[in-house]
Amino acid sequence: MASDSEMELPCPLFEGSEKRIEVEFAFGAKAPVDGLRSLTREQLDSLMSQAACCIVSHRANEDFDAYVLSESSLFVYPERLTLKTCGTTQLLAAVPLLLQLAESLDMCACRTKYSRASFLFPEKQPAPYHAFSEEVKYLESHFGHLMGSAYVMGDALHGLQWHIYAAGAPERQTRRSCQAQASMEICMTHLCPTKAAQFCRGAEFVSAQQTTVSSGIADLLLGADIDEFVFEPCGYSMNGLQGEAFSTIHITPEEACCYASVELTGCPDMEPAAFIAKVAEIFNPGRMTVCLTSATSGSAHMGMVPPKGYLAVGSSMQKLPGGAMAVLHSLQQPNLTSVLQDEPDMAGCATSDDMRMEDDNMSVGTALGQEYEAPILATRSPGHDGTPHVGYASSQSSESCLKGRPGSPDSPLLWSELQSMSGLKPAEVQDAVCSKAMAVCGVVARYGAVPLPDGKPATVDTFLARLIRQHGLEDPACIVDLGEVARLFRDWMAALPRVVPFYAVKANNDEAIIALLAALGAGFDCASDAELDMVLRLGVSPDCIVFANACKRPRDIRAAANKQVALTTFDTPSELAKLARWHPSAKALLRIRADDPAARCQLGNKYGADPEDATALLKAAKDLGVVVKGVSFHVGSGATDPEAFREAIQLARGAFDAGAALGFNMDLLDIGGGFCSGAGFTGGVPSAVNAALAEYFPASMGVQIIAEPGRYFAESAATLACMVFGVRDCVTADGVCTRDYWITDGLYGSMNSLLYDHAKVAPRPLRISSSAAPDQAAGANSACPLTGSVFGPSCDGLDTVLQDYPLPKLDSGDWLVFSNHGAYTFCGACAFNGMDPTPATFYIFSET
Ligand SMILES: *Cc1c(COP(=O)(O)O)cnc(C)c1O
Repeated sequence: MASDSEMELPCPLFEGSEKRIEVEFAFGAKAPVDGLRSLTREQLDSLMSQAACCIVSHRANEDFDAYVLSESSLFVYPERLTLKTCGTTQLLAAVPLLLQLAESLDMCACRTKYSRASFLFPEKQPAPYHAFSEEVKYLESHFGHLMGSAYVMGDALHGLQWHIYAAGAPERQTRRSCQAQASMEICMTHLCPTKAAQFCRGAEFVSAQQTTVSSGIADLLLGADIDEFVFEPCGYSMNGLQGEAFSTIHITPEEACCYASVELTGCPDMEPAAFIAKVAEIFNPGRMTVCLTSATSGSAHMGMVPPKGYLAVGSSMQKLPGGAMAVLHSLQQPNLTSVLQDEPDMAGCATSDDMRMEDDNMSVGTALGQEYEAPILATRSPGHDGTPHVGYASSQSSESCLKGRPGSPDSPLLWSELQSMSGLKPAEVQDAVCSKAMAVCGVVARYGAVPLPDGKPATVDTFLARLIRQHGLEDPACIVDLGEVARLFRDWMAALPRVVPFYAVKANNDEAIIALLAALGAGFDCASDAELDMVLRLGVSPDCIVFANACKRPRDIRAAANKQVALTTFDTPSELAKLARWHPSAKALLRIRADDPAARCQLGNKYGADPEDATALLKAAKDLGVVVKGVSFHVGSGATDPEAFREAIQLARGAFDAGAALGFNMDLLDIGGGFCSGAGFTGGVPSAVNAALAEYFPASMGVQIIAEPGRYFAESAATLACMVFGVRDCVTADGVCTRDYWITDGLYGSMNSLLYDHAKVAPRPLRISSSAAPDQAAGANSACPLTGSVFGPSCDGLDTVLQDYPLPKLDSGDWLVFSNHGAYTFCGACAFNGMDPTPATFYIFSET
């Protein structure tokens, strides 16, 4: 379909595992010859909306219609309909309407089969899909008269299980035979990242057709008429039509929920072993689950030879009502041992050479250990449509953030430099790059980030205007640009190659920002139990966290100890006593005071020991048995004076030497936060830091350097938009016209930054209201600015965002847009006056 290739649908899939229903109907006397195929597109559309998905493409041949859906596929034959949907779609909710539509055609259901594999994220499924018994109950309420049966096949410890509900007797057939067709369904997880990357709209993407050819799918389905679709930014769906047979492939390539399925149904000369081997070659999955269903009286493929490079870890067989047979085979690569340790093995693609070949061995593998599907923790984040997102599943190996140096394969980013500095073979670099790219790609997809050509104000405003109109927005909206975060990370590593950033979560605890930084290889600075949870829940290793609050509440210390977060700061004997009591395995960093008096927010009044007291504090630590590992400081937030960083690093060296003299193994320097992005960063701070490090902490000392930037990553990553909902015109005593505005966010909301962060805001107007035309009544030129105040929504006079601020004449329904609004804004907002400050958050990924 011509229009489809232009459509850009975000890929909503985080649960690849599909639900599938097949319903066959008997023709009544008044039924049309083409049966279900006479249903109109409108009827099918409303059927799909019951299931919470929609049609994105259509292809037909003489025998049937095939539809690619936003979530998988639909096939309509005269007597039979097969619907397959993934994600959290409500497949079964379409059943009542389907039966009703069939009835209107004088057709009634004579056979049905509902099946699905185990879900990767069962806890995300709505009722009734969270328990197979509930699904069966629902099916029985509609098909109970067909005498159904329900089965679960497969080993819960070794791969996916297969759930089948089947009902219907062959003798109920009328015009056409009510009998099952042979089918083969293959579900795959742990795909090779390089293979999975082919199914994204990345730099390599040419067209969906090209993806079909280059991936090898076209060869797999030779002779089929293929209708394919590549989703934005990731995901691939296709239907193949070949006579009465259909094939369908669906791929969710994102790392955290990587999944692919291949189905072949009604193909008379199907050769499972050869077909499965080809499929294995295309996707190189760590694990394959194959369900073969015979035609009504066909033979079962019980003794199938696993493809080269795979072990058969289990097989089971089930007779279905009506005489058909289902056989389930679980296959996996021998290097896939424990799901929690998949990362090292799966970062590269296993080749057939490094896998032992097991010949026709149908016995259940014994040395494979416990196998569960990846335990990915799910969280809710303020997604634009309220859909729950799946959190970042750890691919951070322990200490990966600390080991990450240019020169080692797990270096944070710096892809282009990786090869020359590391001596890796190009293919190895490819794999390292590919797995990191996939992790980033996974985050981008999981939070539904929309790609934009750039993050410039004009581009963002166009995007915002569309959102506002499309969703009828009134409340504050926040645009988080994950592309900007990725660029900031790249720029950081380029400017400060020795310093691993540990993002200070308090600056902006947006989950996608944290997940993206984790995927890129950053560590994190947390200051409370709740911040620890937030970061750990996203799969970050406790070794990649510094608990950088120098005076911790007892509960926070206990939480850090429980969660095995060892690295933490102190600056008083009282803190040392708490550590000794509650966290004996802590690795402490002495925080010294080293201020930039010109920084935007001072911290020195509250934190940091006088460097002169360093020796006394280190002695106290020694006496209490607290292990001191290094030194930290924070020059103040929003610091731009290179000299402040230089001086601080020099003072830190003094404290290092004092610690070493007392016998501590001092090997970590934490240069804190304070960094600005943009001009504040390029203005000499990095070069001063690098020079001071070279002087006081030369690489030969073997000291690991980290920093705790917060503002740097958060500030330019978010843009706020607020609607004008009130205007007031005044004329001053000297005859000047002013216009005041009320907007939906203010000082009790994200603009608390005006008070606490000494922020200055300078919004730009975004015209949305219909009365945006020049003001005819006054004859005024609307482009000519009027000055006035901008007020927040609360009933407090203090809630004044701007005074005497010039803006072109705006009306209620127009918006104000605040760039660089990501740091110390949303995290400090409260719901004063009962006004919920949480903005609707929309993610973009801008490219430059
Ligand atoms: C707030 C804070 C940070 C982050 O500071 P920025 O100025 O945002 O970089 C880092 N470390 C500590 C201990 C902090 O309190």
